[in-house]
Amino acid sequence: MLSSAHDLFRGLPPGTSVAAFNAITLEHAEAIAAAADETGAPVVMQLSQNAIAFHERPEAIAAAMVAVAETASAPIVLHLDHITDEELALRTVDLGFSSVMFDGATRDYEENVAATRRVATWGADHGIWVEAELGEIGGKDGAHAPGVRTDPEEAARFVADTAVDSLAVAVGSSHAMTTQSASLDTDLIERIAASVDVPLVLHGSSGVPDETLLRAARAGMRKINIGTALNIAFTGAVREWLDAHDGVDPRRYIAPGRDAMARTCAHYLEVLR
Ligand SMILES: [Zn+2]
Repeated sequence: MLSSAHDLFRGLPPGTSVAAFNAITLEHAEAIAAAADETGAPVVMQLSQNAIAFHERPEAIAAAMVAVAETASAPIVLHLDHITDEELALRTVDLGFSSVMFDGATRDYEENVAATRRVATWGADHGIWVEAELGEIGGKDGAHAPGVRTDPEEAARFVADTAVDSLAVAVGSSHAMTTQSASLDTDLIERIAASVDVPLVLHGSSGVPDETLLRAARAGMRKINIGTALNIAFTGAVREWLDAHDGVDPRRYIAPGRDAMARTCAHYLEVLR
C-alpha cells in the first residue's frame, strides 16, 4: 500500500531504521515490493534524478512505481532521491510521491542552505517530507570524496536554518561501492544524532558490511539507502543466465535478475529488522 513518509518516520520505533531501495527500472520496483510483501516490512522505494535522466522524463517510471506501491500489501513510501534540480523537486506532489531528497551538497554552504530552505518550506506547505544532505557523500559520477565527515554542530545549524525533515550525513560510506568494505564512524553517528532532532539518513549503504549497518541503525541512522547492491544482484544473475543459455526473449534473463534483486532486498530487510 502507498504510505507517506510522515507516517513512516512518525511510527518508527527508537533504535530501528527503514531500508530505502533505489529503483531504476520497473523490475527494480517489482523486486522491492516483492521483498516488502514477503517480509512484511515497510520500505522506501526511491527514484533518483540520475534514474529519471536515464528514462529521459519522470512521468512513466514514477507512475509505474505508484502502481506497484498501491498494489503491494506492505507499506511503501515513494521518495525522489538526489534531486539537484529545484524545479524537479517541486514536482514531487504531481508525480504521486510523498518525499524528496534535495541535494545541494555540491553547492557552497550558504547556497545549499538557501536552496534547501526553499524546498523545505514548499514541502511543509504541501505535506511533502524533505531530506537534505550536509557533507558531500562521495562516489557519484566518479566524484569520490574519501574522508569527508559531517560536523555535528554544523549539522544542528543546518537543520535549524533549513527546517528539513531528515538529514543525510557523511560518516564514512560512499556511493556505488561494489564491495562491503566501508567502515563507519559510529561515534560520529551518535554525536550527530544527539545534536539534531530529525532522522538521520545513511547513503552509500551497499558498501557497508551488514553488522555495521545494524550498528549504524542502533546509533541513530533512521533510513538506510541501498542502490548498488540491487544492481550487483541483477547484473550478476542476468550475466549468469546469458553465459549459460542461448535465446533472445528478455523475459528469460530479466526474471532471474528481478528475483535476485528481490532476494537482496529481503536480505537487507531481515538484517535491519
Ligand atoms: Zn545517495
